[in-house]
Amino acid sequence: MKLIDQLDLAGKRVFIRVDFNVPLERGVVTDRTRIEAALPTIRHACASGARVVLASHLGRPKGKAVPELSLAPVAEVLSSLLASTVALAPDCVGPEVAAMVDDLGPGSALLLENLRFHAEEEKNDPAFARQLAELADVYINDAFGTAHRAHASTVGIAALVSERGAGFLLERECEYLGRVMTHPKRPLVAILGGAKVSDKISVIRSLLERVDTLLIGGAMAYTFLRVAGENTGNSIVEEEQLDLAASLRAEAERRGINLLLPNDHVVAASPQDNRGALTVNKIPNGKMGLDIGPQTIDRFSKAIAEAGTVIWNGPLGMFEVPPFNAGTMAVANALADSDAISIVGGGDSVAAVVRSGRAAEITHISTGGGASLEFLEGKTLPGLAALE
Ligand code: AMP
Repeated sequence: MKLIDQLDLAGKRVFIRVDFNVPLERGVVTDRTRIEAALPTIRHACASGARVVLASHLGRPKGKAVPELSLAPVAEVLSSLLASTVALAPDCVGPEVAAMVDDLGPGSALLLENLRFHAEEEKNDPAFARQLAELADVYINDAFGTAHRAHASTVGIAALVSERGAGFLLERECEYLGRVMTHPKRPLVAILGGAKVSDKISVIRSLLERVDTLLIGGAMAYTFLRVAGENTGNSIVEEEQLDLAASLRAEAERRGINLLLPNDHVVAASPQDNRGALTVNKIPNGKMGLDIGPQTIDRFSKAIAEAGTVIWNGPLGMFEVPPFNAGTMAVANALADSDAISIVGGGDSVAAVVRSGRAAEITHISTGGGASLEFLEGKTLPGLAALE
C-alpha cells in the first residue's frame, strides 16, 4: 500500500475519500474532530499542487438528497480551518460536477455533496464507481471509519484508478492497530466493555491469541460471571451466549492469559434508580450491575499501569447515567496516566476520553469504531485491500 507522500500529485486531480460524517445540530457542526483529523492529508495534497476533490458520506440519507444532510456546513468549517474557500459541488457525480473539477486550480479543493444521496454508493454500483473515477487521476483513501465497507467510494473507485494510496490518517490507524496485531510492546492489555458479548465474540477470540491480559467490564461481563456461577441478579446476561463465554474462559486459561472480570459492582434496581446506587461484591436478587466498583477500578488501573500497550473498546458501565459513569471515566484517566502505548476505539470510549479532558495523553484515538474492531478481529478490510 502506497502512502500519499509517495505519489506525484502536482497538477493532478486527487480524489480523497474522507470521513466527514460529523454530528450536526440545526445545520451546525457540533464536533470538528473528524474534519481536523483529515487536515494533514488535505494540506499535503494542496501544498503538492494537487487539484483536490474531497468526497464523504454524512448520516443515512438512504439514497436520496436530504437537504438536512448536505455537506454545506462541513464546507464552511473546512474553509475556515484551511483559511481558503472550499466550494461545495451540487452533487458528487454528473457533468456539472465534472466541470467544477476541471476548473480547479493547483492547490485548491472542492467538496463533493454527500455520496449517500445516491443509493449506488453503498451498493458499490460499478457505473456509479466509474462516474466517481472519472473525477480522479489519483485516488486516496483517508476514511478509516468506512474501510470495513465495500462501497463505490472505498472499493469500486479504487480498482478504476491506477494511482492510488492511503492518506496519513488511514496509515496512522493501520500502523497502531497493525502493531497491536503483530508486534505490540508487552505486556499487551485489552479492555473490552459495552452491552453485548455477541457483538464482540470474534474480537475476543482474536485478542485471546495476542494479549497478555484481558479486562472485561460493562454489561458483557455478567455473562462471563454467570458462567463462573455468580449471582447476577437482574444484570444483562445473554443466556444464549453462556456456552460460548464458558469456552472463551477456558481458552483464556489454556493460554495462560490473565482474564480479569469485575469483583465488585455498582448496582441499582434499574438504570433510572441512580439515587439507589450501591456498591457490592455480590449482586443481590432484584438489582442489576450498572458499573464496575472501586476494587475493580483499582485492579484494572494496576493492569493498565503495568502495560506496554493498552487497547480499549467499549464502556465499563452505563456511562450515560451518573454515577454509573465512574468506572469508564476512571479507566479513561488510568489510560491517560499510563506510559503505555494507548489506543482507544469505539464511540463511547472515545467520548469518555474526550470528556475526561485528557485525549491528548492517549497515543492513538481511532476514528473508526466498527472498522477498528474488524481490524482487531484479523479481518481484511475491503477499503484497505482495494489500495494494494
Ligand atoms: P456497545 O454498543 O456494545 O459498545 O455498548 C454500549 C452500551 O452499553 C452503552 O450504551 C452502555 O450504557 C451500555 N452498558 C455498559 N455497561 C452496562 C451495564 N452494566 N448495564 C447496562 N448497560 C450497559
